[in-house]
Amino acid sequence: MKLLVVVGTRPEAIKMAPVVVGLRGVGVPTVLVTSGQHPRLATEALAVFGLTPDIRLEATERGENDLGPLLADVIARISPVLTEEAPSAVLVHGDTTTALGAALAAMSLRIPIGHVEAGLRTGDRSTPFPEELNRVLIDRLSTWCFAPTRRAREILLREGHPEDRVLTVGNPIVDAVRYVQRQVELTACSQHPELAPFDLDDLSEVVLVTAHRRENIGPPLRRICAAVRKIPARVVWPLHPNPELERIVREELEGAEHVTLLPPLSYPAMVRLMLRSQVVLTDSGGVQEEASVLGRPTLVLRELTERPEVLEGGLVKLVGTATADIAAAATTWLDRTPTMHADDAPLGDGRTGERIGRWFGSAFGPLSP
Ligand code: UDP
Repeated sequence: MKLLVVVGTRPEAIKMAPVVVGLRGVGVPTVLVTSGQHPRLATEALAVFGLTPDIRLEATERGENDLGPLLADVIARISPVLTEEAPSAVLVHGDTTTALGAALAAMSLRIPIGHVEAGLRTGDRSTPFPEELNRVLIDRLSTWCFAPTRRAREILLREGHPEDRVLTVGNPIVDAVRYVQRQVELTACSQHPELAPFDLDDLSEVVLVTAHRRENIGPPLRRICAAVRKIPARVVWPLHPNPELERIVREELEGAEHVTLLPPLSYPAMVRLMLRSQVVLTDSGGVQEEASVLGRPTLVLRELTERPEVLEGGLVKLVGTATADIAAAATTWLDRTPTMHADDAPLGDGRTGERIGRWFGSAFGPLSP
């Protein structure tokens, strides 16, 4: 048996790293391929977990309207690799163009597909776009759906996926963030070169902001920036590498002295900053999950989430993108930290990579409890 794991973006690299480690840990030969969608960020994220891509493709994302060409590029570049490597199965993660392209290429060659983080749905095809449609399509193409939660499994069963092909394994973000947390929690921000210049250790309050969803770029992002202007604390915002997003944020926040805009942070610096922050504002899927694992109060800058499990603990709240709502909620939470009222681990126990590894290791046998 040989597995081929494909990742394209930073979040896929972070979440698939524990799966690759889990597979290799039980001796399953695993070829790790990067598609080129986020070439630098994905490779750097893999390196945090001691992984190097075995094969690097160059299907690079070029801009906002390049989804079609990127999809075509991923399919064209991964197809010969699949033919050459002839894996027993291909594993993809989540909802990116890379994941859909790799799944379509595998399907064309009749190679079975395993989908990690299957069954997430907002129920609205346009939010987030294209992720919601990508994840529905990838689940349809997949032989095995690795659902992160019971809710995701139930969604897949309702959609008609056969019971024995839907496995609840947890979300590998828990494995990833716990692994990095152990490395960084005893460090000061000043020990991380990317954070050192900003004296974050001495401040009483820090607010972390991240935003990158396509549907927020434009007026919603301008409203988010207007809210950030009103926040009465130091705001640190590592910018996603999208030139249009960066242009709007720099324009809207010019002269706002309490705001520090940074280039993308390494994953360890990001986790350190999350641990340091009193409040997190984000439209990211991964950051909502990490904040819930780390117990950081988080306002989600979206109307809908495909991860309602993280809302149940009371520390993560959907706030939307209206300026007044965001500013009021952030100010309230800076004054009074919300209390957590559910302390179970909604996203799993941090052993998802190991579980998927063991499952493939037992030659596609049943999942042991
Ligand atoms: N992240 C990071 N550095 C940054 C911003 C984000 O390492 O400067 C990590 C973050 O902690 C999370 C992942 O990247 O694990 C989230 O990626 P993103 O928000 O781009 O995508 P999404 O999760 O929304 O698909």
